[in-house]
Amino acid sequence: MSDASTSLAKPLVLVVEDEAALATMLRYNLEKQGFRVDEAGDGQEALTRIAEQQPDLVLLDWMLPVMSGIEVCRQIRRRPNTRDLPVIMVTARTEDQDAVRGLNTGADDYITKPFNMDALLARMRALLRRTNTVPTKGRLAFHDIAMDLAAHRVQRNSRAVHLGPTEFRLLEFLMQHPRRVFSREELLDAVWGPDIHVEPRTVDVHIRRLRKSINGDGELDVVRTVRAAGYALDTEPV
Ligand code: CA
Repeated sequence: MSDASTSLAKPLVLVVEDEAALATMLRYNLEKQGFRVDEAGDGQEALTRIAEQQPDLVLLDWMLPVMSGIEVCRQIRRRPNTRDLPVIMVTARTEDQDAVRGLNTGADDYITKPFNMDALLARMRALLRRTNTVPTKGRLAFHDIAMDLAAHRVQRNSRAVHLGPTEFRLLEFLMQHPRRVFSREELLDAVWGPDIHVEPRTVDVHIRRLRKSINGDGELDVVRTVRAAGYALDTEPV
C-alpha cells in the first residue's frame, strides 16, 4: 500500500459532495476498492482541486454551495486541459429531469441518490475504461513485433506493418496482455468499448485483417485461435 508505484497506478477520484457523511462513506468504499480519493465540499473548491490534483474521474454532486454541480461541469468542459475529464453527476431522485440536463452540459453519466455502491463502482469502471485518455505513450514489444504507441508505428522484423485503427488497438491490447486468451466479448469490451454493440464475429473479421498484415511470408502466426474460447497473442501453437 505504501509502495509509490502502486499508489500512482490507482485512479484518483475527486468526490465533490457537501454532505460530510456521504463524502466519508464514498471515500471509505472507494479506497477499499483500490481508488485514491480527494474531496471538495463546494463547486469552487472542486475546480481548484481539479487544477491542482488532476483527478482521473470526478463524482460531482448536483446540489452544491457556492457553485452548482452543473456550473462546475460546464467549467470543466470549457477548459482545454479538463475537457475530456470523466464526470459522473450525482443527483437526488427528484432532480431526475435536471440530471438529463446535466448530461447535456457535459457530464458523462449520472447516478441518483440514494445509490447502490456496486452500481456506482460499475459505472465508474466502465467510464474509466471508455474514456481512458491517459496517454500510454510508450513502446510495446512481443517476439519480433515492436509497437511505438506515440508514433503509431508497428514493425515486425524491422519491416513496417500498416494496420487500420481497429487492428492497431486490437494488437495494442493483445500486446499488453501477451499469452492471455480473450473471448470475443472481452475483446469487444476492451477494444470497441462496453457500450458499442457489435456482433462478436466482427472480432473475427478484424483478427483476420490483423493476421494478414502482421504475418509476413514465412513468418510465424503470432495470433493463436483457441477453439470455443477466443484469441491470444502467442508464439506457441495450441
Ligand atoms: Ca449536495
